[in-house]
Amino acid sequence: MSIKFYNTLTRKKEEFKPINEKEIKMYSCGPTVYYFAHIGNLRAYLFMDNLRRVFKYNGYNLKHVMNITDVGHLVSDSDEGEDKMIKAAKRENKNPFEIAQFYMDAFLADIDKLNIDRPEIIAKATEHIDVMEEYVKKIIENGYTYQTEDTIYFDTSKLDKYGVLSNRNIEDQKAGARVEFDKNKKNISDFALWIKAPQNHIMKWDSFFGKSYPGWHLECSAMGCKYLGEQFDIHTGGVDHIPIHHENEIAQSKGYSGKIPANYWMHVEFLQINGGKMSKSLNNLYTLKDLEEKGYEPLVYRMFNFTSSYRAQINFTFEAMEAAKVALNRLREGYLKHSEGNEEISDEEIKNYEKRFLDAINDDLNMPVAMSIVWEIVRNPKKSKKLKELLLKFDEVLGLDLKKYKKEENILPDDVIKLVNDRNEARLNKNWAESDRIRDVLIEKGYTVKDSKTGTIVEK
Ligand code: AMP
Ligand code: ZN
Repeated sequence: MSIKFYNTLTRKKEEFKPINEKEIKMYSCGPTVYYFAHIGNLRAYLFMDNLRRVFKYNGYNLKHVMNITDVGHLVSDSDEGEDKMIKAAKRENKNPFEIAQFYMDAFLADIDKLNIDRPEIIAKATEHIDVMEEYVKKIIENGYTYQTEDTIYFDTSKLDKYGVLSNRNIEDQKAGARVEFDKNKKNISDFALWIKAPQNHIMKWDSFFGKSYPGWHLECSAMGCKYLGEQFDIHTGGVDHIPIHHENEIAQSKGYSGKIPANYWMHVEFLQINGGKMSKSLNNLYTLKDLEEKGYEPLVYRMFNFTSSYRAQINFTFEAMEAAKVALNRLREGYLKHSEGNEEISDEEIKNYEKRFLDAINDDLNMPVAMSIVWEIVRNPKKSKKLKELLLKFDEVLGLDLKKYKKEENILPDDVIKLVNDRNEARLNKNWAESDRIRDVLIEKGYTVKDSKTGTIVEK
């Protein structure tokens, strides 16, 4: 079965050919753990999970690495501003290691709630300083760097071409630069690989460069190479990584081994809020917890993301979340409806659904089309357990946990049982006023009340 993906590197949709059929090797840029992930960030990991699930559905094994940036990510990708981790440490009056641990745990809890499968390897930058040191030493040996008093820079002019992913060259960057670039750099696209730590810098390690710390692009190259080799299949991230972070990863890898590290580069577009950017100052930056507090279970946000291709921007509104909530309930009801049925569905009909679903997901993860097939099944007027099984199978890709969904059993709380008994007794005594009063209390509590020969029947 052929799988096609849009490859940012070649700027076209291509048939996917793994390096090794037995196991796909994939790397995803993970979070910088200095604050709670917002729902835009979480879209990036929902995409990553979607891709994992599509591979698994196609029968592949995966070796998938995701990094956790817990050191050295400055405020902008191009190394300007204050270090994000240190800024957060000051804000919360903790040390940066505590900040990293706290927000990493919060991130993992969020992805678990969204039913995002964890990558086989989750690698923290601070646990790989020695790996990065060995990696950078080789780039230095290979002649791709220069050094100032406090920084080792990557010299991008040493490459045959810098900017293969975004198709930009150094001259374009100079022309487009909004600010004067750091005078210590020889070229505007050069970037820091290793930095000497100032006296009061907490996150620092003893290394060949004294007390120092790595630049943030380095971790992905070094850890990717450690776990997946010099060349692997797929590299993923958000579109904001294309022009700097991923170009710099490619530069480092070329400096290290002469190779571009991944054959396929896949990038997820941004989530917008009410048609614009999410930002704290606009008070429109939501976390998963914010959504939960507004009454949306996390899987509703997962469902919402299936309304768009990962390559298109998606616009978040609460109306759209409401629609996703209704849709998720409808899907669960459809699943239940088919669980109860035994009507005849031909194998051919099942195969047809299966084929169209597979075609959709293997066409660059076309989830809107895949979902349209799911809806056809839900709406199929014949109730059939075969259709239920099919929805369960598709749920391996959707990750909506349908199998956990069962018809709510009518288990009554003790106070309701007592009210029912009291009402039955009132009716036996022909105390209609008391019987009506208790009926109203039950209705108030959200129950429907019917009378039968055996007594009061209530249902939530
Ligand atoms: P960060 O923790 O800032 O490194 O970001 C984590 C991931 O979230 C990266 O892959 C970003 O590309 C991605 N990202 C950031 N903002 C958005 C957004 N609004 N929509 C989708 N992805 C985003
Ligand atoms: Zn990265």
